[in-house]
Amino acid sequence: MDDCLFCRIAKGALPVELIYDDELVAAFRDINPQAPTHILIVPKVHIPDVTGLGAEHGPLLARIMKVATELAQREGIAETGFRLLANTGPDAGQTVPHLHFHLLGGRVMGWPPG
Ligand code: 5GP
Ligand code: ZN
Repeated sequence: MDDCLFCRIAKGALPVELIYDDELVAAFRDINPQAPTHILIVPKVHIPDVTGLGAEHGPLLARIMKVATELAQREGIAETGFRLLANTGPDAGQTVPHLHFHLLGGRVMGWPPG
């Protein structure tokens, strides 16, 4: 997907610092942070959103969860708490059609979200 923004970032084709990078996933800081820590964790393979996930993506999802915990520890928010979420579709406000998990923390967050 040469025209997909997050495909390009994940493979290092754009000048965006990858704060985590392995063969399955990459992570980088959100350009418009909504919390002191706001990181996006994305698969390297193009999957439009959560509904594109299948049983074959089990290892990928396990890796994303593990990377989220590692980054939360690195950011010092593993103990204070964090939110890990994937906006899916228009009602949730998804704006980039490449699966991404937001890792948010460093402040108290309200519930329910707006
Ligand atoms: P969504 O709204 O789809 O759940 O999340 C997309 C996120 O990507 C937004 O929080 C937005 O700020 C972030 N974003 C969009 N374009 C870029 C970019 O070029 N670089 C970075 N680092 N983040 C981006
Ligand atoms: Zn993509």
